[in-house]
Amino acid sequence: MRITFLGTGSAMPTGERFQTGVLLSEDGRRLLVDCGSGVLHRLQQSGAGYEDVSTVLLTHHHLDHVADLLPLLKARWLAGEEHLEVVGPEGTKALLDDLLDVHDYLQDRVDLQVREVGAHEFEVAGFDVEGYETRHSLPTLAYRFDDRFTFSGDSEAFEGLANFADGSAVLAHDCSFPDDVDVANHPTPATLGEALSGVEVGRVYLTHLYPHTDGRQEEMLDSIAESYDGDVRFAEDLLSVEL
Ligand SMILES: [Zn+2]
Ligand SMILES: [Zn+2]
Repeated sequence: MRITFLGTGSAMPTGERFQTGVLLSEDGRRLLVDCGSGVLHRLQQSGAGYEDVSTVLLTHHHLDHVADLLPLLKARWLAGEEHLEVVGPEGTKALLDDLLDVHDYLQDRVDLQVREVGAHEFEVAGFDVEGYETRHSLPTLAYRFDDRFTFSGDSEAFEGLANFADGSAVLAHDCSFPDDVDVANHPTPATLGEALSGVEVGRVYLTHLYPHTDGRQEEMLDSIAESYDGDVRFAEDLLSVEL
C-alpha cells in the first residue's frame, strides 16, 4: 500500500500545506480519503490524477475535508469519467444533496453513488476498512485500512483512538497546534504523546497542521517524546510512503 499525503494543512492556510487529503494506492486500486481545498490540485501534482480516483471516503463534513468534492466531480465529468462514489459518516447523503442543490447544473453529470458508514468494518475501493468514532466538534470517523494504516481524521488525542491504531505500520494523526494553544476538539503534542504511550505503531505522521505550528516542529516532537518514544515525523504535502 502506498500512502500519499495530498494535504497536511487545516482550515487556516499556511502557504505550503493544502487542506486535508490522503491518497491510498495498491495494485491499481485508489482511494482518496478526505477532499479539502487544494487536494484536486495536489492529486494532479502527485501524478495520480483525478481521472483514476473514483472513490472518496470522508472522515467528517467540515469544509477543510470536503471543499474539493464538487471540483473533483466536475473535473471528472469534463474528462469524460462517468462515476464517483462518496462514502462517509451519517449525513453524507444530505451533504451531497445540498451541495448539488446549490450547484444544480452538476446534477446527473456523473453516476454518483453515496454510501454512509459508521464505527464498523466495511469495504471501499477494495480496501478493508474499520471505522472508529473520534472526539471532535462534528461526528467524525477515524479509519484503519487493511489493518496497516490508521488515519485519525480530526480528533482530540485519547486512549481509545490510540488503542484503535495499536499495531498499525503507520498512523497519521491530527496534531493541529503546539502546546501553548488552548484548544478543544484537536490534540496538542503533549496530549498526543500521552495518548500514544503504551501503544505500538511503526511510525506516526503528524498532520492537520495550523499555521501556529510553523517553526515549532522540533519543540512539538520533543513534547511528544516526553511520553512516547516511537518514531514520530511531520507529514508534508506530496510525501509518499510505501508500506
Ligand atoms: Zn474538523
Ligand atoms: Zn479539519
